[in-house]
Amino acid sequence: MYQLAIAHLYPEQMNIYGDRGNILTLRQRCQWRGIAVRVDGIKPGQVVDWASYDLVFFGGGQDSGQALIADDFVQRHGASLKAAIDDGLVLLAICGGYQLLGHYFLTHTGDKLPGIGALDVHTVGGEKRLIGNILIEWTGQKRGAVRRTLVGFENHSGRTYLGTGVQPLGLVQRGFGNNGEDRTEGAVYRNAHGCYMHGSLLPKNPHFADHLLSLALERRHGAVAGLVPLDDGLEVQAHDVMVERLG
Ligand code: GLN
Repeated sequence: MYQLAIAHLYPEQMNIYGDRGNILTLRQRCQWRGIAVRVDGIKPGQVVDWASYDLVFFGGGQDSGQALIADDFVQRHGASLKAAIDDGLVLLAICGGYQLLGHYFLTHTGDKLPGIGALDVHTVGGEKRLIGNILIEWTGQKRGAVRRTLVGFENHSGRTYLGTGVQPLGLVQRGFGNNGEDRTEGAVYRNAHGCYMHGSLLPKNPHFADHLLSLALERRHGAVAGLVPLDDGLEVQAHDVMVERLG
């Protein structure tokens, strides 16, 4: 039987706009397929062996939520999580979590929150928040996914700028994305993905959820037969309605 272990970083401090829905989606899509799945919430102060996890999720948070956990995250997990990501650990980070995976987040009030530098990005807060629904063309690796679009909701003051060590997750069709200037949204390095898309993201982008699950299963179990298709009628409808509305 296939099995996956998921680490959910700071679920109490970093959960905004229903980001926890991403965990529900990953867990449910495994259960529907008979894949044994375990989800561990990682609290401040906890010691983590990243090698025991197949997939890591880090949700978004207010600047204040980020400030609460930033030191613990960087000091306790910075070096080990960065090494695990270099080694191919599968990860999804949204908004506030995404920012802390980069080099730093300079907030609009002038506080500099260090990141772990696992993604070659940095973020600078602006006066005007970037808010609204977002539609992107997913330009990265897709592993057989039929849909090329991702839909979500964004609300951030941070403008994120990509370095040469990452690829964008996609190109903005509607909304702001990383910074509202260069049309990029999100960043991908090896199997680590960061982006600004709340929503929650995965419930209405099941093709992206399966992309992450495939990466994690392959890493844990070696070459696996493709994921069993699920009846995604409702999820696809939710996705397509937003594409139509925004496209
Ligand atoms: N506090 C960060 C910002 O405003 C992240 C917000 C969020 O996670 N939605 O940029």
